[in-house]
Amino acid sequence: MLPSDSVARPGNLPRYCTRHGRPATRRKDFALQSKVRIEGRRIFANVFSQTERLAQHASKVRVIDVKGWPLCAVCVRTRTSWLAVASALFFGGLAALVGSLAVGAFTDGMQWLAAVAVGGFVLMPLAAFPFVRGSMGRLIGAMTSPDGESVIVENPSAAFLAELPDHRS
Ligand SMILES: [Zn+2]
Repeated sequence: MLPSDSVARPGNLPRYCTRHGRPATRRKDFALQSKVRIEGRRIFANVFSQTERLAQHASKVRVIDVKGWPLCAVCVRTRTSWLAVASALFFGGLAALVGSLAVGAFTDGMQWLAAVAVGGFVLMPLAAFPFVRGSMGRLIGAMTSPDGESVIVENPSAAFLAELPDHRS
């Protein structure tokens, strides 16, 4: 557990990454969002309860600003490749969709164009999965505590722990 006011100031975090315990090659500023479990039954999925749930969601999300989180070379490479996969899927899907629609506007009767359009349409939301894998929270194995007062790191490396001023974890 790292208190949120200490991670919000640069220079308080260890020089080693949480996952691999390797020296940080890069420091990253980001906003860590809490995971939210939304209460309430989903049976009455009308507009009213939908709005209510959204409001509930907004009030329960906690965001902690993190400054200078250590990332080693392996972490950076992992993040870069997941984000590259995500953008390839998204922009590939978008290009397939837009391209096939554009070509379809000038030609007619080509069925494979429709298939390309559908393929593009399916690819774009799939980009969400690698995008989540490349997100900072997943990468470093951290989340906020339910009250939003501290950052919880899952299985931090020994090197990371050793440099914390107070490691009761
Ligand atoms: Zn690492």
